[in-house]
Order: sequence, then structure tokens, then C-alpha cells
Amino acid sequence: MPRIDSSKVSRWDQHGREHVVLVQRTGVQRTIRCDTCGWRKPAQFLPWLKAQEHLAQAHQATVDPSAA
Ligand SMILES: [Zn+2]
Repeated sequence: MPRIDSSKVSRWDQHGREHVVLVQRTGVQRTIRCDTCGWRKPAQFLPWLKAQEHLAQAHQATVDPSAA
């Protein structure tokens, strides 16, 4: 069973470094924030998808550690 953590998305880059995007909830608003570069963005819908896109585009981090 893969472990699903709804409050953060972590991906590894090809150098084995971990990058984490946190999903924070404030009332009905959700904000996603990257721990690596400080990037943040409101994400009402599909915050995990947007987090994955950021990790892939900004950090080339596409390896899902929970899928290993
Ligand atoms: Zn980032």
C-alpha cells in the first residue's frame, strides 16, 4: 500500500536530493509552498498536481520516493 500524505508532496531529483512542497490549508483556501526555493502559490484545485508540476519544472525532481 503506498503511503499517501495529503499535506506535502516530495520528489527526488536525479542527484538524489529531496524537494518538498507543503500543502497548507487556511479555511477554504489552499496554499502550496516549496521548501527548496520558497515559491508559493494559492491552489484551490488540485494542489498536489500543481506541486508536482513545480517540482518537475523548477527542480527536475520527478522521482516519487513513495513509489519506490
Ligand atoms: Zn521550488
